[in-house]
Amino acid sequence: MPTRIPITVAKGDGIGPEIMDATLRILDEAKADLEYRFIEIGESVYLKGIPSGIEPTAWDSLRDTKVFLKAPITTPQGGGYKSLNVTIRKSLSLYANVRPCVSYSPYVYTKHPKMNTVIIRENEEDLYAGIEHQQTDEVTQCLKLITKPGTERIIRYAFEYARHFGRKKVTCMSKDNIMKITDGLFHQTYDRIAKEYPEIENEHYIIDIGSARLAEDPDRFDVIVTENLYGDIISDIAAEVAGSVGLAGSANIGNHLAMFEAIHGSAPDIAGQNIANPSGLLLGAVQMLVHIGKNDIAEKVHNAWLKTIEDGIHTRDIYNAHDSKELVGTKEFATAVIKRLGEEPKELEPVRYNHEGSMQMPVDQPTVRAKKEVVGCDIFLQWNGKDPKELGDNLGKCKNDPLELIMITNRGVKVYPDGLPETFCTDHWRCRFSSDDLTPVDYKEVLKLMQIINEAGFDIIKTENLCTFDGKPAFSLGQGQ
Ligand code: NAD
Repeated sequence: MPTRIPITVAKGDGIGPEIMDATLRILDEAKADLEYRFIEIGESVYLKGIPSGIEPTAWDSLRDTKVFLKAPITTPQGGGYKSLNVTIRKSLSLYANVRPCVSYSPYVYTKHPKMNTVIIRENEEDLYAGIEHQQTDEVTQCLKLITKPGTERIIRYAFEYARHFGRKKVTCMSKDNIMKITDGLFHQTYDRIAKEYPEIENEHYIIDIGSARLAEDPDRFDVIVTENLYGDIISDIAAEVAGSVGLAGSANIGNHLAMFEAIHGSAPDIAGQNIANPSGLLLGAVQMLVHIGKNDIAEKVHNAWLKTIEDGIHTRDIYNAHDSKELVGTKEFATAVIKRLGEEPKELEPVRYNHEGSMQMPVDQPTVRAKKEVVGCDIFLQWNGKDPKELGDNLGKCKNDPLELIMITNRGVKVYPDGLPETFCTDHWRCRFSSDDLTPVDYKEVLKLMQIINEAGFDIIKTENLCTFDGKPAFSLGQGQ
């Protein structure tokens, strides 16, 4: 007899227990042969005073089973509680968020009946590193981190996903026309890796026009790969455009563990009423079955679910008098899916999970180290005056040969020398010191310069080294420089 595969399960908050019970009933009736290890997460754990929302012992179960089926949880408002989702994704390095967004027209209303797009979102980096500071009275900052290994992993994952699941095209979205170094790294890495998959079409969109096209003409997209924040936004747009955020499941995949969930929240407004739609979590569970190699069960559950939708048996959120036949509650919907196990839809396209073997996971490449040299520094000051010329003329007296003041920017716009009088300035000034020809300096000279500036009475809030890598300058210019 085959051994049952253990998975970790959290029933979550709000509608979580209802939709999880419905989902597990369907998995059991489909003979998924899973062993459930339940852990407690979410509101009750937060309210015990554990700010992460997860009991320390729960990590052992996750590490042991390596597969996590999670219902939505409620993050209590205020009180400095950390997002549990972000904690789990980052702590366990679940770097790929995979959200299939599919239309079920005419059974679920959508303007885009042919949509079948998978959004693959980088899940750990970008502005979600959560490194934020208030630096002056007027200015706050959030650091956007885009790394080479993180970018390579997610882009390779997207191409491997497309190859394994027979997808034709991978579209990259970034904003490298503005963020030339961070988003530039993402786009360049995509271009480089795309060449290794010649059978898969590739294209790049700037995220703003890409999102607009996704909302208006989603059928043109197959797989989309993008950074964390852009992916967060466009995956909700895509799910909504496909018909309903209530229908989409999502997978969070790492090299060692994976978590599966619905994309919606805990819906406290309808909790305990047996009216929630369990479909998002059930489709997340279908992704899980494929992940653990139970493709036949995944196909059986998914096709029974499609048949239920096609038969017009709908929960309240997708019910409409024109196309629906029967309004059902959460439990009755699960019963209807169970009744159809073994059946396939006739109008909607049945799914097939008959892919050979398992998906090739990206292998981390060693970093090639370049020759790095410090050629100057950006010294950020709080200065409460308004005239950049006054600041520049005074600060310009602070020198440590060959480091001298080259320019000052305010919110990235050059204001000294030769700024425009119209430019609005805050109390946050980026002051660039280097030599004209970017002569390399010892970092001790930067420290000495900082000391000179500090002793002249300026308020240094932070510094960034200006570096070259293999002789190439690796820092942005000021706008107008
Ligand atoms: P939500 O997704 O819970 O609800 C938004 C709206 O959609 C509500 O009207 C709700 O009734 C409806 N809805 C959601 N899921 C439904 C379903 N399965 N069936 C029928 N209707 C459904 O978003 P929210 O109200 O902004 O957030 C509520 C709580 O959920 C918050 O505490 C939030 O932090 C949390 N949240 C958790 C997750 C997660 O655990 N993955 C994700 C998002 C939000």
